[in-house]
Order: sequence, then structure tokens, then C-alpha cells
Amino acid sequence: MKEWRESELHYLAYVRCTSCKGTGVRRRVREELVPCRCALRAMFRACFERFRLCHERGKFKQPAAFDRAPTGKTNRGTWGRKEEEFQADFELVAKRTLDPWHHRLFRWYFLLGADWRLCARRLRIDRGNLYHAVYRIEERLGFAFGTLEPYALYPPRDYFALHFRQVSLAAPGVGTPNFAPPRPREPKPVAPLRPC
Ligand SMILES: [Zn+2]
Repeated sequence: MKEWRESELHYLAYVRCTSCKGTGVRRRVREELVPCRCALRAMFRACFERFRLCHERGKFKQPAAFDRAPTGKTNRGTWGRKEEEFQADFELVAKRTLDPWHHRLFRWYFLLGADWRLCARRLRIDRGNLYHAVYRIEERLGFAFGTLEPYALYPPRDYFALHFRQVSLAAPGVGTPNFAPPRPREPKPVAPLRPC
């Protein structure tokens, strides 16, 4: 279970939020923080911005890179394409988290960039209800992205620097890359001196 940090929620909060007064904390349950909706929406928007950035890079995406995390067959790491993985995770988490009605709106409004008028007409709802639904989507996905385990999508910076975090948080001896010790160099043979 993710433990929210007060400073992080404070940073994400909407300053004029009437629920949390700009603190990002809605309430506390047994000393645990419950994030405010404004902070969850900010988490979603940060992930969505990164998703759009990955999409707009088109063919100029980063090449496959070696991720030195304790994964893979040899426990030394795996090759992967981080930007494509982030985009796939973004869409799959949304599909898993949202019900069919909200997921349809998510695809039209966020992924396909449809106008609110078009979405409202297709879903047969008015503008107010449409934006309420959009806010619900942002809140649910913000929570899902922030609490996803083992690799949370929020913050995207940590997702793309996963290998550093995984290696540093691993318990000693567990999940540590199992590199073979370097072999000692053998001295080069020296040619015998010829007598003059
Ligand atoms: Zn708030």
C-alpha cells in the first residue's frame, strides 16, 4: 500500500481547492493521508502530458535501451523501449480501471482529442455532466497511476529511471544484479633477453 507524503500532495494540490484548502490532503484515516481529488487530478495530468510527449515524438523515439534492473532470465536486466511501455501501461491501466462507459469517454476525449460537443452529443449528456465525468476519470486514473505496483506511472520521472530506484531499494543480497567477479589479469609473457 502506497504511503502518501504530505509534501508531495501539497505540491500537487490546487491552491484554491475548497476541499483541502490547498494542502492536497482530504482527511486522515488512522494517521494515513487520504489525497484530495485535486491532487489526484494533477497526477493524472502529469502522466497524460508524458503520454502525449511520447506520442508526439513519433519515429524519433528513444532506441531500445538496456534496463539494469534485477529482472530477466539472468537477473541482470532486460532490453526494453521505455516510451512504448509507458504508453501501453497508460492505456491498459485505463482500460482495467474504468467501466465501459467512462472508458469510451476516455478514449474519445483524451486519446482521440474529440471536442466536448462531439462527446456530449454521442453520449447524450449535457456539458456539465460531461465535465463531471471527465473529472471522475482523472481522479480514478490519478489514483491508479500513483498506486500501481510494482511500477507506478506517477511520477513519470521515476518510471523512466526505474533501474536506479529498483537497485537502490532492493534488500541486500535480494534482487541485486549477480555479476561475476572480474578475472585477475594474467601477466604478459616477457621475451627473454638475448646475450649480446
Ligand atoms: Zn484539494
